[in-house]
Amino acid sequence: MSINIAIDGPAGAGKSTIAKKLAEKLGYVYVDTGAMYRAMGCYFTDLHIGQEDTGAMSRFCRDAKIEIAYRDGEQQVILNGENVNHRIRTEEAGLMASACAKVKEVREKLVELQQALAKKADVVMDGRDIGTHVLPDAQVKIYLTASTAVRAKRRYDQLLEKGTPCVLEDVEKDIIARDHQDMNREISPLRQAEDAYFLDTSEMSVDQVVEQIAGLAERAVLKH
Ligand code: C5P
Repeated sequence: MSINIAIDGPAGAGKSTIAKKLAEKLGYVYVDTGAMYRAMGCYFTDLHIGQEDTGAMSRFCRDAKIEIAYRDGEQQVILNGENVNHRIRTEEAGLMASACAKVKEVREKLVELQQALAKKADVVMDGRDIGTHVLPDAQVKIYLTASTAVRAKRRYDQLLEKGTPCVLEDVEKDIIARDHQDMNREISPLRQAEDAYFLDTSEMSVDQVVEQIAGLAERAVLKH
């Protein structure tokens, strides 16, 4: 049986940075599920489907073929044969991802892919519903968060680093809107799983968080 580590939490909590480092340290595969919703969002944008048109999303999502590949250890999302990694990291893509993540058919399709990946290999998987829904039997579950101000600043720094001009207040507004949507949707809203460890990373360094989760993982594997 494969070992699964589930990391959930709101936008900008540091999930992907932590999950990637942790996976490297443990020799596990990192699965970024947000990237799959972002790719699905790109697909709808290309079809000129608006954020509110969930009916069209549920009808058209069956024609989107989403596959995951790894290149130099980096997850690549392939949408209908096209690598869309370079398109999915904008704030707009994040909002579109959140809009389409409300749609039952979209979630069913992506959850199936996520569960298949976790069956095949030891994974660190991050998202919003991994501990509560995708991998309810994960050996380690983490709910990672930080204050809204800290999360907005981290996301802002990331965007600037990539050369994307942005305004801190706008980034914070987007994060708040996305969290509200993710926490209040009907299907698989963002919640801390009952058996998840709560980690507020506002005052912690990346290495401290990675060490702490790696310790929990070691103990869980020993018990296993
Ligand atoms: O993690 P990331 O910011 O890339 O996720 C983009 C959006 O995808 C989230 O705001 C959320 O709406 C959706 N998502 C989700 N379930 C997941 C992962 C992401 O609903 N497991």
